[in-house]
Amino acid sequence: MNMFSEQNVARISFLCAVILVAILTVSSGLLFIANKFDTLNKDLLTLEQDFIANEKKQLRVDVSSLQANIASRNKTMQSVLENNLQVRVQEALKTAENIHSTMKSRLTVEMIEDVIKEAIRPIRFNDKQGYCFILRMDGEVILYPADTNLEGANFFSSNIYLAPEVMTEMIELVKAQSQGFLHYNWFKPHDLSGQFVEKISYVALFEPLGWIIGTGEYFDNLDSLTRKTVTNELKESLQGDIPDYFFIYELNNMEGGKDFATMLINNNRPDLVGQPISDDYVDAKGKQFRKEFLKGIRDNGEAYVVYWYKKTDGSGDGRKLSYFKFYPEWNWVIAKGVYFDRLDEAIATKKEALSAKVTEDIKLLVLIFFGGVALALFAAFFLSKWLQRIFNNYRHAQEEYAKQLETLNNALEKQSQTDALTRINNRGYFNEQLDKEIASAGRYPNPVSLILFDIDNFKLINDTLGHLAGDSVLRELAALIRDNIRQTDIFARWGGEEFVILVPNINIEQAAKFSEKLRKTIVNNTFSIGRNITCSFGVSTYRPPEKIEDLLQRTDEALYRAKDAGKNRCMAC
Ligand code: GH3
Ligand code: MG
Ligand code: MG
Repeated sequence: MNMFSEQNVARISFLCAVILVAILTVSSGLLFIANKFDTLNKDLLTLEQDFIANEKKQLRVDVSSLQANIASRNKTMQSVLENNLQVRVQEALKTAENIHSTMKSRLTVEMIEDVIKEAIRPIRFNDKQGYCFILRMDGEVILYPADTNLEGANFFSSNIYLAPEVMTEMIELVKAQSQGFLHYNWFKPHDLSGQFVEKISYVALFEPLGWIIGTGEYFDNLDSLTRKTVTNELKESLQGDIPDYFFIYELNNMEGGKDFATMLINNNRPDLVGQPISDDYVDAKGKQFRKEFLKGIRDNGEAYVVYWYKKTDGSGDGRKLSYFKFYPEWNWVIAKGVYFDRLDEAIATKKEALSAKVTEDIKLLVLIFFGGVALALFAAFFLSKWLQRIFNNYRHAQEEYAKQLETLNNALEKQSQTDALTRINNRGYFNEQLDKEIASAGRYPNPVSLILFDIDNFKLINDTLGHLAGDSVLRELAALIRDNIRQTDIFARWGGEEFVILVPNINIEQAAKFSEKLRKTIVNNTFSIGRNITCSFGVSTYRPPEKIEDLLQRTDEALYRAKDAGKNRCMAC
């Protein structure tokens, strides 16, 4: 069966439509979904990059601002501590004045001096390291709580390195401005190493006794005091600073090592605060992140490091990004980290939203698919109907054309075989039939006879009654003969007013008889011209194996003989 036959057209068009819709829907759907996932991956990447970039920026801002705070606190603390010195001295001065003014009338100078000395001796401040000293203008040491052995000695005559110079400076200062700050280098109490360190003192003249009352602090003490204070303040202020908390290391060795740093502040790891930490510590993924940030600190003074670390909510380790910044004044590394949880949450939310969206899209696609299939069915139904109609119309038209063509062909064939005037067979058709009959007569014993007849004096009819009358005679005569012969006889117009009849299955005698009968019929017929006409007949029977020309010749000769014999007669041969 032809696959593309008419019956299959509807099915094929339907199948094509469904396949087309399926291919289009599935391919566009896949493209759509792939595109969605591609966008998601890009979005997630951008999200992570943006998150990291933003957090990096924020961490740097936070750490820098904390460092600025620390620096400013450092500065203010230094001046606070320095002012403290002034306040202490002025308090001691006031104590001395009070004692002196209340006791000068009752006690001797020596006694008063002792009272004041012992009243000032216990004054302690700055972590018990601070104390007041008293010197006489001539260099004698009255009060020196840090090392009482020195009391009674004279700085001018002592062999203490730099003591006479410092003593001179102090005297000059109090003489010039009564009180003020003085910077100088001094030994640390009981430090026999001979090392001198920078010191700041506030000194004031106590005129009634000619004393210099002062107090001082070593710069390194001030600094460590400041650090201690700032560290405590930070511990306090950063208490609730979770989950993205600050942490501070004090570097012991920038090159790293087992105790390269001490943990100063870390609210997430209070167990580590005050403890030495090692740079070979590895995070949950085996990364030595401390070495990484230390390298950044060495190279650039700062570092960003991503690593895994204990989360503040106790839910194990989490990936975090930290920013480390070096604070060279104190050898501190100030740092702050942010856990990726928020990013992971954002990614999870986004993924969830997208998968919901993709599910929706897939549902929509399935709907579109079925809608498309329904449409395709619908379209295919009408298309097949339409095609069917076109095919039917086409087939009907074809059949119609075929019929018309057959009719036309028949008509043409008939026309080609028919004489135009008399509507009987023409000479061409007759010759064809004669050939066939003679051919079969040659094979079978049945005889075939030929009758040739010619209207007598026809010219006269034309001449007297006109050519049209002659034509009528020809038509009427043809009709008359046709009506008086058998179906099997072949009757034709031989030419002009001459006719021929091929009569199968009769011999010459029967043919002669038959001719005679026809002759009489003509004679007895009254034509429309109102006259009777006569015809002369030549009759013959085929004599195998003679040629057709010979048969025709013989018959024609018989007709001539009939004419010659007086017309209106039959002559057989
Ligand atoms: P005969 O008895 O010897 O046959 O004499 P005839 O006059 O019949 O024969 P002739 O050969 O002298 O004339 C035949 C005439 O037939 C001449 C021609 O004009 C006429 N004729 C031939 N064909 C037609 C035709 O189709 N129509 C008409 N009206 N006349 C025709
Ligand atoms: Mg003739
Ligand atoms: Mg004639």
